[in-house]
Amino acid sequence: MPELPPLRDVIARAGLLADKRLGQHFLLDLNLTGRIARSVANLSHGTTIEIGPGPGGLTRALLEAGATVVTVEKDPRCRAILAEIAEAYPGRLTSLEGDALSVDAGALGTAPRRIVSNLPYNVGTELLIRWLENATAFESFTLMFQTEVAMRLTAPADTGAYGRLSVLAQWLCDVNPLFHINPKAFTPPPLVQSTVVQLVPRKEPLAPARRETLERVTAAAFGQRRKMLRQSLMAVAAGTALADGERLCRAAGVEPTARAETLSVRQFCAIANALDMAKG
Ligand code: SAM
Repeated sequence: MPELPPLRDVIARAGLLADKRLGQHFLLDLNLTGRIARSVANLSHGTTIEIGPGPGGLTRALLEAGATVVTVEKDPRCRAILAEIAEAYPGRLTSLEGDALSVDAGALGTAPRRIVSNLPYNVGTELLIRWLENATAFESFTLMFQTEVAMRLTAPADTGAYGRLSVLAQWLCDVNPLFHINPKAFTPPPLVQSTVVQLVPRKEPLAPARRETLERVTAAAFGQRRKMLRQSLMAVAAGTALADGERLCRAAGVEPTARAETLSVRQFCAIANALDMAKG
């Protein structure tokens, strides 16, 4: 294992005071960074992409586990820290500086690709939704979210946390919560609990459907989650051959008096397909 200074020293030397605007909560516990790295399959093949390496605790664990890593970090104060790690692992770490929202992660490094990250909470969900546009470009996503988002990603139907994000993620991926991390493990501690979630993209989505239509349907259905589907889907059905929410539900084989949160991912796909058929 190459000799690198302790993370706390590295942070002090770089004057890396946590910047709230960048969602900076650093994970300095080597047991936890090691545990995240060990939960990722196939690390020694292709490219492991890490968004927001910060002072590089997780980066070190990934390299130690045999990964070739490409990082994307917005904070220029991390540049020298990451350069020092790159020197300790020659040819294994490429550090890009910039906003991960403007980077095509599916084009970084060589396949097979996977993303492992302690995500900045303010852009975590947005990043995941973008990566899911091209989900099969990645072998897996192992991501830390605030627990409330992790619960939405993993929620089964008929639970309060089940919503648009659950349907989209579970349609495209096998989604599993791995473990929780106490706020005290971070410097500075966030106000909320965190959970590591692993998403493994399916070769094919759970059921055929057009993503755009599925997203319109779930937006309408969960936008009025207390209403019956015949009511909440009225606007999306209007102007199609099915004309109203009740007929749209019947065409999809779904009970029009059901509420959004009781529907399975497959049933949402059936509604999306019935809507596309009705549009001709
Ligand atoms: N991976 C480090 C760790 O576990 O200690 C830091 C995690 S911290 C929660 C989030 C990191 O993402 C910070 O280093 C922050 O500067 C970086 N970041 C925030 N917004 C970003 C963005 N849009 N693109 C790239 N990095 C970003």
